Amino acid sequence: MVPSRYNQVTKIDDSNYAVYNVLSGAFDIAGPDDYEAFKVGSPRGDEEREYWFSRGYFFDSREDEEKYIDERYQDYLVETNGTEMQILLVPGYACNFNCSYCYQRGVDTDYKMMSEEAIRAFVTFVTGYAERYDKQVYVTLFGGEPLLDGKTHRSRIELLVNMLAEKEIPLAVVTNGYNLESYLDILEKAEIREIHLTLDGDKPVHDERRSPLDGSGSFDRIIDGMQAALKKGIPVNIRIIIDRITMPTLPSLADRLDTSGLLDQPVNLLKSSLGRNYELINEYPDQSILYSMDEMYRDYTDLIIKHPVVAKLHTPAYFGITNLVNSGEMYIPNFDSCPAGKSELVCDFDGKIYGCTASCGRDGYELGTFYPAVKLDFDQIKPWRERSIKTIGECMDCSVGVLCGGGCGVIANEQNGSVMSPNCKPVKAILDQGIRYYSKQLLNADSVLDESII
Ligand code: SF4
Ligand code: SF4
Repeated sequence: MVPSRYNQVTKIDDSNYAVYNVLSGAFDIAGPDDYEAFKVGSPRGDEEREYWFSRGYFFDSREDEEKYIDERYQDYLVETNGTEMQILLVPGYACNFNCSYCYQRGVDTDYKMMSEEAIRAFVTFVTGYAERYDKQVYVTLFGGEPLLDGKTHRSRIELLVNMLAEKEIPLAVVTNGYNLESYLDILEKAEIREIHLTLDGDKPVHDERRSPLDGSGSFDRIIDGMQAALKKGIPVNIRIIIDRITMPTLPSLADRLDTSGLLDQPVNLLKSSLGRNYELINEYPDQSILYSMDEMYRDYTDLIIKHPVVAKLHTPAYFGITNLVNSGEMYIPNFDSCPAGKSELVCDFDGKIYGCTASCGRDGYELGTFYPAVKLDFDQIKPWRERSIKTIGECMDCSVGVLCGGGCGVIANEQNGSVMSPNCKPVKAILDQGIRYYSKQLLNADSVLDESII
């Protein structure tokens, strides 16, 4: 009998180990003797042997495991086949803020707004794409800052929103939130998926770092905009920027939002995510404040244990551990975590098409044009479409591959010179943090998943 390459063990305390398999989703609590037997692959009887097989921890042969991986891959394909296509639009790269970590540092951010003709061409491209590939499509407005002030800018955004509304194409908006409130009357004409806003620590830190050029701060305006959107039933997603300066301010931020009643909104109206402040491609001005991903999860977990109100603001998914505790199931395996060129495209104001926001505006990453003519460069698109843990050599045997999904193609390309190369994430360290956070609940469940799942 052979052990699955996807088996994992996390020590919870001296008497308990979490034994789990990230492909099958099996998760069990084992005592020291159970763990020793498991580690050497020596079951203490037929019943235990049968149990290990039923949970996907062991197979009769490598070929049997390969067959099982293929079955799970088919499940993944069925699950993702219906995935919507997100087509983002950067109507201009200009912004009214000057944030130090902006992904667009290094991109020409002069104010250039899309022409009406280009907006019409964009909507035609989106509807044509939906028809040709028989896909549900939604549009996300991105920037720069897409909700800038100024008559021309507003009228062009209004034209876009009206056209999308007419074609019944849903819209999401990624904005710094400064002008959100004054744009709501325009935006609500379309079906709004969500407004994605960023908070950068509590008010003092946020205002110091995310401010219009006059330095007047933006925290209060963003909160007002958020509340106005929620009042209209428009979902909001808050991205919380994490680095060594913002982390200690999160209890104060969470208190402020909780006191305003924002954290009691239902999940379909208010979501949140952690945005690690990190050096994606450019030189970041102050490296000493940046977290590595595993350090961020460790410190964030310490923080939510100490200040539960921060968990109310955001509880990490811990690669499926939160879902396991809440619903008894880990997620379906993820054979590909990079949507660029597959379920995501980005169109910019001068007619170019890119695979995603990280590559948008960068030379060498163009995948085609939608204006003045639609042209897709399939040679350029090919590696993005083919990229997955089934095609990146290093990922094929990786013990956490089906959670990591191969990482980010742009970072992989910048670091290794090839899109078809890995961008590793510290998945096991993050799973360990999730198991630490939920240790009490996990220890109270005999077997977290009762059913045999393969
Ligand atoms: S290349 Fe990176 S940033 Fe772009 S879609 Fe893939 S994972 Fe996301
Ligand atoms: S990118 Fe690295 S961690 Fe992720 S699946 Fe590939 S080898 Fe594993």
